[in-house]
This record gives sequence, C-alpha cells and structure tokens, in this order.
Amino acid sequence: MSKKRTGFYPGTFDPITLGHVDIIQRATKTVDHLVIGVAINRDKGPMFTLDERVEMVRDELSDVAGGLNGCTIDVQPFDNLLMHCAEQHSASVIVRGLRAVSDFEYEFQMVGMNRRLNSEIETVFLMANDKYQFIASRLVKEIARLDGDVSAFVSPSVMARLYERVGRA
Ligand code: ADP
Repeated sequence: MSKKRTGFYPGTFDPITLGHVDIIQRATKTVDHLVIGVAINRDKGPMFTLDERVEMVRDELSDVAGGLNGCTIDVQPFDNLLMHCAEQHSASVIVRGLRAVSDFEYEFQMVGMNRRLNSEIETVFLMANDKYQFIASRLVKEIARLDGDVSAFVSPSVMARLYERVGRA
C-alpha cells in the first residue's frame, strides 16, 4: 500500500477569498489529505478573530466536508511555528499560492528559512485561475470598508460577514 501524502496549506485567511478556495481545490488533486492551517497572526491585526476565520474556512468547505478529488480536508487553527505545525500533522508538503511577482520575494525567503528548519518537507506553489489571481484579503477588506462591491472576490456568506463587520447593512 502506498504512503498517504499529507499537505499543509497555511494562511491568515482574513477572510477566506475565492482565490484561497481555488488553491484549496487544486491542492486536493496533489495530496491524499489536506490540512488547512489558519494562523493566529497577531502581527497582521486581523479583522476577524481566529475562531471566526476558522469557522469561515469550514463553512466555505462544508460542501466538500467528506473530501474532494479523493482527498480529505481538515481545517485547524495554529499559533506555533508553521514548520512545527506541518510536522505535527505529518505533512510532507507545504502548499502556498502564488499571485504575482510581489508574492515571490516573501515566499522565496520563507522557503529558504523553512528548509533550514526541516529539509524533508517540500514547499509547492500553485497558481489560481486567472479570474482569481489578483484577489487579496487585504484589498477585499479595504473595498468593503469603502462601500465597494466585493461579490466577485468572496462567497455570499463571507461578504455578509464582511459588511456586518464594517458596519454596512
Ligand atoms: P499569509 O498571511 O500567509 O499571506 P493569506 O491568507 O494571505 O496568508 O494567504 C495564504 C496563501 O494563499 C498564501 O500562499 C497566498 O499567497 C495565497 N493566496 C491568497 N490569495 C491568493 C490568490 N488570489 N491566488 C493565489 N494564491 C493566493
């Protein structure tokens, strides 16, 4: 029997966008089990609490709770080192999404540092569909705050939560 391959997809998911969902769907084609790690990320001053972000990710994936593309999915919060969390889940791959050149420098550094921490775990980069490649949680929050329409970037339920958080009806 071949070994079960586990992937770890970490992020802040503040909030989860259609770009994240697209990366999750693609990631399920490459591993047998995918752990989505929702980072506490105090430094980023998230709009949503850790519990809220975890809940939103779980809600987005409720249709595929039983699995997708033969891959089971688990959503877990984490507040320790990314590599330690990946190890705790016995992941052999870390999944990251790559948008534009702007993501590259940060991701390049992360891979370098993570390799020093554990050289057995590989990082793989996936690109979202053209439609979603430019979406960033940070911009979605800004648009919501400034009364803009975010329906092309997040699901209706995330949109409702965003509007509620910024005090829109
Ligand atoms: P982080 O705080 O680690 O940047 P994010 O929640 O912003 O967490 O993103 C998690 C991962 O998903 C990152 O690898 C990020 O590059 C990727 N990602 C986010 N939005 C998109 C998108 N629209 N297309 C592709 N990858 C994305």
